[in-house]
Amino acid sequence: MSAVVQAIRGMNDLLPDDTSMWQQVEKVLRETVQAYGYQEMRMPIVEKTNLFSRAIGEVTDVVEKEMYSFIDRSGDDLSLRPEGTAGCVRACIEHNLIVNQEQRLWYMGPMFRHERPQKGRYRQFHQMGVEVFGLEGPDVDAEIIAMSHSIFKKLGIADDLQLQINTLGNSQERALYREKLVKYLEEHFEELDEDSKRRTHTNPLRVLDSKDENVQRLLVNAPKLSECLGAETTAHFSRLLQMLSALGIKYVINEKLVRGLDYYNLTVFEWVTTALGAQGTVCGGGRYDTLVELLGGKPTKAVGFGLGLERLMLLLTTLNKISIRPHVDVYVVGSGENIDLKMLQLADNLREQLPQYRIMTHCGGGNFKKQFKKADRLGAKVAVILGENEIANHTVTLKDLLNQDAPQQECPETQVVAMLNMLLKDK
Ligand code: ATP
Ligand code: MG
Repeated sequence: MSAVVQAIRGMNDLLPDDTSMWQQVEKVLRETVQAYGYQEMRMPIVEKTNLFSRAIGEVTDVVEKEMYSFIDRSGDDLSLRPEGTAGCVRACIEHNLIVNQEQRLWYMGPMFRHERPQKGRYRQFHQMGVEVFGLEGPDVDAEIIAMSHSIFKKLGIADDLQLQINTLGNSQERALYREKLVKYLEEHFEELDEDSKRRTHTNPLRVLDSKDENVQRLLVNAPKLSECLGAETTAHFSRLLQMLSALGIKYVINEKLVRGLDYYNLTVFEWVTTALGAQGTVCGGGRYDTLVELLGGKPTKAVGFGLGLERLMLLLTTLNKISIRPHVDVYVVGSGENIDLKMLQLADNLREQLPQYRIMTHCGGGNFKKQFKKADRLGAKVAVILGENEIANHTVTLKDLLNQDAPQQECPETQVVAMLNMLLKDK
């Protein structure tokens, strides 16, 4: 026997039972973004590497350590997308979607990061993201947060997630803060862990969300970003908080929330759960008013979020909020001469007239007992039975599989559709 080739570590197959649950969640996501009037974007999975290094920032974890980059056969430096925002902005600039016009967009698909695989952290994972261009007020920040909240409500997990929120101010305010923070960190340099030492001079704000306990203790007395914020930033933030309260969305202000990517300003937020261990952030987002210009477009205000589908699925299964759905409603069984052909014809006919139901034909023959067993295993709700009697009488027999006491009903061919509709209506 040849050696078995296995999947790449951290890149998961989604098997039929998984996709049964993923599809239910994807449906909720699609219906929600559509209810808000957002339009779908589909960007390529591969982009030029410098798109990501410019957008996300050279000294971020994603660009420094996590990108799948390679030189292709034409010698171009390309990367698998680690997130969706950069590609979405690139596409909007390239196709002139955001000059003097607003866009409210969403996308869904695989992202790639070379991280250490563990629960809730994979090398291929999926994000649903939304990006809004051309609107600067806190109203649209509130709208996308409300949209994420509405997704969690529909999925029954709103109470299991906490909204953490912060404001990063504008670039001048952050520069002023960075100076103060670096000065403080330098005064305590020897007490910092290696990561924080390095970040002090590359990306000092990231020291704020260091996992090191010593560093966190040290930060208690560090200068606060909120002390460097001007009136405009404060007004934007407090209006947003007012709107969230009015919409019935609870939040916690987390002054240490800075997010991993460079492009954020003003509003940043995360939806966090304690039910998944270390990988507790299910959704994260914020404003990125300078990114469009940084990538060569006209200055355009922007805000968005990315929601990790694996973590969302993990949360739903951990909390028992989702289950595998049977994939067959009606199972067509039969016995007799040439019955296989008649069964295929009947099933096709039913599919045409009842497109909302999933109708499977039993294939491979065998006695009725065996065929009904299969119908049960598939979770079918109704069996459609064809035998020699039925053929002779131009009838079909229906059996309610969810109610074993209900008698089988033989009905004329012309009434099968109506009868099936009745039987399946409330199931
Ligand atoms: P973390 O701090 O957990 O590494 P992040 O800040 O890198 O997350 P973002 O870039 O904000 O994550 O991505 C948005 C969302 O995508 C995250 O909140 C998470 O749900 C999901 N996500 C990010 N990286 C991974 C991964 N490697 N595997 C699975 N989901 C991920
Ligand atoms: Mg990360």
